[in-house]
Amino acid sequence: MIDTPTRRVVLQAGVFAAGSLLLVDGSVAQAPLAPTPACHDGDDRTMAQTEGPYFKPASPERTELFEEGMAGQPIELVGFVFTRACKPLAGALLDFWQADDKGRYDNSGFRLRGHQFSDAEGRYRLRSIVPGIYPGRTRHIHVKVQPRGGPVLTTQLYFPGEPKNRSDDLFRKELLLRTAKNSGSLAGRFDFVVA
Ligand code: FE
Repeated sequence: MIDTPTRRVVLQAGVFAAGSLLLVDGSVAQAPLAPTPACHDGDDRTMAQTEGPYFKPASPERTELFEEGMAGQPIELVGFVFTRACKPLAGALLDFWQADDKGRYDNSGFRLRGHQFSDAEGRYRLRSIVPGIYPGRTRHIHVKVQPRGGPVLTTQLYFPGEPKNRSDDLFRKELLLRTAKNSGSLAGRFDFVVA
């Protein structure tokens, strides 16, 4: 079942750091996520990773990559774009691309590809499906993050508890999503720290 825009997905405190109860949907987009205990002054930048062979420029601007009839477990991914001094960055470009439930990329069109801009509070929100795996790789979502007028960070996000995390040389635990199950949907959190 697909979340309706009005349905609230609540990540319980304790799944993330204590106190970071997180409401995730359009109607609470104005609710403060901050202060986030995940950000510390002087945090390292989010590490870069290879772009891989399947990036396509000029993806559609959208936060919803799920399409009617698409197979796969729904996931809602949220987080901030921060500077190293924990300042949230508004208007940062986030361009996501990923494989479908069977581990296939759409290289002729823009299925499961989309870009968006962080909001006035530096937050982003992506609704998609959990990507399938393909030979040689563990489960991952690709992303480029670019602050206004800044350099592009290209990296990949990983899922906790994946057996193939141990055998994929690209996997880094620093790029793990924090996830929580929510009545069939997966909630994910990742904060980017950029230059
Ligand atoms: Fe990939």
